[in-house]
This record gives sequence, C-alpha cells and structure tokens, in this order.
Amino acid sequence: NEFEFFLATGEIARLEKEVVVVTSRDVTEEKQISHAQTLLQSFGSDFSALKAEHEKAWHKRWALSDVLIEGDKAAQQGIRFNLFQLFSTYYGEDERLNIGPKGFTGEKYGGATYWDTEAFAVPLYLALAQPEVTKNLLKYRHKQLPEAYYNADKLGLKGALYPMVTFNGVECHNEWEITFEEIHRNGSIAYAIYNYTNYTGDTSYLKNEGLEVLIAISRFWADRVHYSKRNKAYMIHGVTGPNEYENNVNNNWFTNKIASWVLQYTLDNYQKFKNETSLQLAKEEQKKWQNIIDYMYFPTDEDLGIFVQHDTFLDKELMTKDSLTADELPLSQHWSWDRILRSCFIKQADVLQGLYYFGDQYSLEEKTRNFNFYEPMTVHESSLSACVHAILAAEIGKADKALELYERTARLDLDNYNNDTQDGLHITSMTGSWLAIVHGFAQMKTFNETLSFAPILPKTWQSYAFHINYRACLLFIQVSSDKIELQLKKGAPLTINIYQKAYTLTDNLTIKTKTI
Ligand code: BGC
Repeated sequence: NEFEFFLATGEIARLEKEVVVVTSRDVTEEKQISHAQTLLQSFGSDFSALKAEHEKAWHKRWALSDVLIEGDKAAQQGIRFNLFQLFSTYYGEDERLNIGPKGFTGEKYGGATYWDTEAFAVPLYLALAQPEVTKNLLKYRHKQLPEAYYNADKLGLKGALYPMVTFNGVECHNEWEITFEEIHRNGSIAYAIYNYTNYTGDTSYLKNEGLEVLIAISRFWADRVHYSKRNKAYMIHGVTGPNEYENNVNNNWFTNKIASWVLQYTLDNYQKFKNETSLQLAKEEQKKWQNIIDYMYFPTDEDLGIFVQHDTFLDKELMTKDSLTADELPLSQHWSWDRILRSCFIKQADVLQGLYYFGDQYSLEEKTRNFNFYEPMTVHESSLSACVHAILAAEIGKADKALELYERTARLDLDNYNNDTQDGLHITSMTGSWLAIVHGFAQMKTFNETLSFAPILPKTWQSYAFHINYRACLLFIQVSSDKIELQLKKGAPLTINIYQKAYTLTDNLTIKTKTI
C-alpha cells in the first residue's frame, strides 16, 4: 500500500493498520485475498471498539487465571508475563492446532508439537481455562492416530507411536536417539487422557476417542517390551529417557513405569467402558498385557533406597554438579557430546518425572531419597527441568530450593537466564512457573478425583493467590504466612482436602498455614 499526505507544520497523520491472517489450512490460495477482505469488513474499522472487545476477551481469561504474588515484584512480573505469552499462543480455539515450544516467538523447534504439550501444558490449561481448551489438545492427538500407527509401522512395531516432533502426526525429527528411542512420550499422550478425565470428571473423550488412542499406544508397548528369560521379567532396551544427556540405555525406570501404567490404565478403562464402545480387545491380548504389568522390570537400588535411572546408571562415575566449574556450564555449550553422554549429569527430571506423575503411589521418604540423590547431579539444561524439581522440593519440605527453581523457571526469558532468548521464548516451559506455584508451593493434587492442597509460603513472599477451575467451580486461594483463604467464586459446594483433612467449601473458608 502507498499513502500520500501533505502535512502542514503541527499536523498529525495517523495510520491504523488492520490485519487478518488467513492460511491455506483454512482457505485455498486463490480465495485467500477475498476471504481476508470479507473478514476485515466483518470486524468493522472502529479501533476503539475492536480494542474494547479485545480487552473484554482478555479480562475473561484473567478472571479465570490470574496469579498474584505479594512481596516479590519480579516473581509477580514473571508469572503474569508467562501466562500472557501462553494464552497468546494457545487458547484452544482449533483442535488442529497445538503449542510449539517457542510458540510464535522464534523459529527454533520450527513450530512443531512436542511431548511438552501433554506433560507441561495440559495441567495448566486444565486448571486455568474451560475444559474444552484442553479437550482440543487431546482431539489433536486423536486426529493424528493414523499417523501414529504409521510411525510405529515404520519401526516394524505394532500399535501407535506418537511422534516426538511433528506438524501433521508423522515423526518429523531426524535423530534416531530421539525418534526411535525417546518413546516415553507415547506414555505422556496417554497420561494426558488420564489427567483430563480425572481432573474434569468428563468421561466423554475417554469413551469416544481416548480409549482408541490408549489401546493403540498399549499395543505399541506390548510389542516394544521383550521378555528376559534370565530375569523372568519384561524389559525395554535401547531407549532415551527424558534425560537427553544419555542415549540408548536399557530399562529407563521412567519409561518402564509409564509403559506399564498405560497398559493398566487401558485395561481398567476397557473394562469400565467395554459395553459402551465398539472397540474389541481379545481376552488373550488382555492377558498378555496383564502379564507384562505383573512382570515389568524396574531398576532399583535397595541400599540407596532409590529407583535407578537405568540399568547401568550407578556404574557411572557419580559426582555432583558442585564439582563443575562455572566455565563448564552449560555443559551443552562447553563439553563434547561424547563427554556429556558418558557423564552422570542429568539434563532434566527423569526418575523424578515419574515421581511427579505418579505422586500418589510413592511415599514422602521415597520422594526425598530420590530427590536428594538425583537433583545434585541435575544441571537443569532443559528449561522443562526446574519446575518438576521445584514441585518435589516443595513437597519434601525444601522450600528454599523450590523458590530457587521457581525463580529460574519464572524469569527464564525476562532475565535471559540461559542466554538463548534470542531463539524465542520458552513457551512450553513457561507453564513451569505456574506449576511450581500451584502444584509446588500450594501442593495442589487431584489424584483419585480428590482436590487437595498442602500449601507452604516461600520465605521472601508475603502471600500468593491463584484461581483454579475445577469441575464447574471457580476457586480463589490465597496463601499468606498465617492463613489460607479459600473462596468459592462460582459453582456448587465442593469437598476439598487441606493438609489431609476434608472440608466442604460452600463460600469462604480460612485455615491456618502450616509452618515449615
Ligand atoms: C528437552 C525435551 C523437550 C524439547 C522441547 C529439549 O531440550 O530435552 O524434553 O521436549 O527440548 O522443549
């Protein structure tokens, strides 16, 4: 466009530019211009009206999701910045879309979908938006089930293997140690189905689409395991766990755990819904899956009382990250891959990812022992790492460590912590700051369809407060040094557990904060 003005001294010309974006995903190329023009006309050209509409839409989002922190301006700015960026990237309008690790802010990761969505974004959207927003993320994977079958078939395996990196459901990554080996992601796709169903109480996705996805993923695991006669156990060899600083390991504890969990979750739900679905699971196949569950091998060390990351992890030269000098960090920029892969240093939560996912199955002592063993070796060089550690640190009473890790995740881009913000914002790990506050400091848990909290207050904060959408209720929870105030802003009375005691929340409730 060209514009010509003649301006006399002191006169001002103002240009307002209205933009619509159309893509070939929705409109064929030849129709794009006319379609864009029609859209533009339908929006009208009154800037202040458009702005008011925009503000109204954002106001609605913030009313469901705002987090307030008193006593730490930087922490407050961090969480609001992150929520704003996340909601600008994805708000569930279209089930064909997903969340790239960099959103629309940079070209690294090419805008592709990763397991980050199910593992880190789903828990946040479940609590901060209406259930449809998350449901669309689940539908995205259901739509790509044929491609997931294709991915498994390419490897000569049965069932469905969801991709580590994708645009259209077909695996788009090109490194074998990730595409063939980092198969734990297949478990997280199933875990998100559990998460949605357990959190919302809505079984419609599970019945109509989810079970089909679960059965397909279970078939993959049942083919990918092998039976070791010598050990009388099922094993999974040749994998990369969430810790990408090791490849081609055998019996990654997290992978074995999530594989057997998926098989069990699928069997349970098949039993529950078999009369309401046309899907068929032969008795023989069910028996085989049960056998894998019963005889799955999990590396553990009785003396240390820990789950072992994989078969030979303890044979490595074990040392803590204190032994590294500042000029060696981050390892990914200063060490050769050969050195990194042979070292004991861990990129991100691995065993601990499992203890977070399946937190109701493990005791506080088990969590403490594993945390104390693995965290000192963890360099947190994936931006997804800090939040899982912050959550567990808060749970096991290491409040200072939890705060340190919160700060790392909350202001990662504002402070350019990893010196890589020029590649784009870490959109999927921005969820981590919210997870660290709500799943971490407030210890919100929803296992077994029960909402529970066990809040602690970081030393340097005066208070924090957040909203939760839970089963058609909107809750506002404020934690300060002496009290926890809960407010039911919308919805029917709700039973919740606080510090393991059950309360019925009808309107407002105040409870004494536990000191640490
Ligand atoms: C992490 C992966 C993650 C990817 C995209 C990698 O650095 O190790 O777990 O999926 O980044 O965020």
